[in-house]
Amino acid sequence: MSIQSATVVGERQAVVSCHVERPLDDTVWTRFSALQRRRPGGFAIAALMRPADAGAGEDEDRWLQRAREAAVHGPLGHHTHWTAPDHARPSGAEPLATDYKHPGERVRMEGARLRELGLSPVGFCGGGWYTDAEVAEVCAELGYVDCTPRATRPPYLPSGEAWASLQQPARIRLPSGSLLPAIPTTHSLGDLARALRSRTLPPVVHAYFHDTDLLDRRRRALLPVLLRLLSRRARPVDLATLAAAIGHEAPEVDWADVARL
Ligand SMILES: [Zn+2]
Repeated sequence: MSIQSATVVGERQAVVSCHVERPLDDTVWTRFSALQRRRPGGFAIAALMRPADAGAGEDEDRWLQRAREAAVHGPLGHHTHWTAPDHARPSGAEPLATDYKHPGERVRMEGARLRELGLSPVGFCGGGWYTDAEVAEVCAELGYVDCTPRATRPPYLPSGEAWASLQQPARIRLPSGSLLPAIPTTHSLGDLARALRSRTLPPVVHAYFHDTDLLDRRRRALLPVLLRLLSRRARPVDLATLAAAIGHEAPEVDWADVARL
């Protein structure tokens, strides 16, 4: 069912994604993989995976094995940490680092590598919610649906830092004229718990968590409970299906109305 017809009949839809930050950490991976297989609430959780960082000594063969495994159990996505595996946003270190790449260039290179490896990521999410016009253009070139826009400003971002603001799925008209489909991320686990309690879910919910959340006993227990509750208030759809639906029908918005500082 498409976005528009879903809205017309009032059927709420929900997607769930995970920022897979530490795919080579055995404990984190085992927990994420087990959860993805279980499909709590019937959700095929999209794995937005950070590619192996050769510069940081990460093993790409092992990474690829895990990415293939994730792609069997849900949609696969691309998640970029621009500075280092444990530093998501760009550091602005251009004059100092010889291997510095502009954020868009890094996404283009990583995206090309993922394809060389035989992977077909459906979507993208910028680490630390960072994006800019160049990153967005590269996402459109790669055929991604962008999950970087958020319904609310990331609470920890200092003022003046770039992010993208969008309430519901849309097609973003970029400066080049290309259209970038976007499914904004609407709810963290805490937001989701509050919205379920207050019954204030939007027509399309996109809940996310981090693989590292699964290291925390309380969050690990809470997540399947929340997803089961969510599935009673919204029809579970997966990111790829929703992306295909909005590719034709979502409203168009201008990049200038999405980009924020
Ligand atoms: Zn991240």
